[in-house]
Amino acid sequence: MHTLLDGNRVRDQILEELRPRAEQVTRALGRPPGLAVIRAGDNAASEVYVRNKTRAAAALGIWSETLTPPESVTTCELLSMVEALNRRPDIDGILVQLPLPSGVDAQQVLLAVDPAKDVDGFHPVNVGNLSTGREGPRPCTPAGIIELLRRYNIAMAGKRAVVVGRSDIVGKPVAMLLLQENATVTIAHSKTENLAEVCREAEILVAAIGRAAFLGAAHIRPGATVIDVGINRLTSRDEVVRIFGADSPRVATFDQKGSVLVGDVHPVEGADAAGAWTPVPGGVGPLTIAMLMRNTVEAAERHARF
Ligand code: NAP
Repeated sequence: MHTLLDGNRVRDQILEELRPRAEQVTRALGRPPGLAVIRAGDNAASEVYVRNKTRAAAALGIWSETLTPPESVTTCELLSMVEALNRRPDIDGILVQLPLPSGVDAQQVLLAVDPAKDVDGFHPVNVGNLSTGREGPRPCTPAGIIELLRRYNIAMAGKRAVVVGRSDIVGKPVAMLLLQENATVTIAHSKTENLAEVCREAEILVAAIGRAAFLGAAHIRPGATVIDVGINRLTSRDEVVRIFGADSPRVATFDQKGSVLVGDVHPVEGADAAGAWTPVPGGVGPLTIAMLMRNTVEAAERHARF
């Protein structure tokens, strides 16, 4: 039997712990922590993500506002928006929801965010802070993964950790955070040879690939802790049956909704082999917003200090 690492439960704990901190910093600043979100263009998924973020903020008493420039917005216009938010004393955190419209230079826009207000932790200054162990916002999904491991008392120090994926938003920062927890870390990617063999060394295996049910029994050391970051939407019934099995309740969910989510780890093989693992949905996903709230409250706390 494996332990299910319940992201919803840990998210609720984190948010509950943040409530008194948000209240305290509100008293210290004479205003609530402030979060500004820029959601440019008409991406339906972004709309849902941003709505969830602003709802979580409201529930904690964080002031949030969403700027919604149209799909036709230019890099220059977005830079002006970011600069205006950088200057506003009532805004502690700025989040630029990705993806930006195709004509926009996203790197330039992200670079313009004041590192002290960069609640996503993506700015190169904060990447440097992370890699040198200095204080600063950490990328939300990777920080959520470490929080999940800590709260389930899963030892990281001295353990073999393998991270599959080397993106700037998940793979690299989670590897860096695991290293800071004194794990022995390997980063694997699409050019890694003998991926299954490398993965089987892992006592902690993090999958951040973006390919449905890609890692299976051959990749998992029996009893390993498996953190499945992947969020992949299956839209073919045959694929749902192939991955989950014809008797799985997910088939009924598919029949109702027309799609189901699956991680990067094969849900049946993963559950059989792992000692502890994160379900999809309900594992890593819920933690991202909780850590965004934590980064926002901590940015406000830093502003209250200086
Ligand atoms: P990404 O930028 O597309 O990076 C994917 C990584 O996987 C790349 O480093 C790539 O290697 C590697 N990869 C691709 N195919 C591979 C293969 N066959 N063997 C080994 N490695 C392979 O994706 P991402 O942004 O990190 O996201 C990864 C997944 O996490 C996605 O499903 C995404 O939706 C999900 N996600 C979830 C959350 C959340 O739960 N809140 C947050 C962020 C992302 P190369 O570098 O060599 O191309």
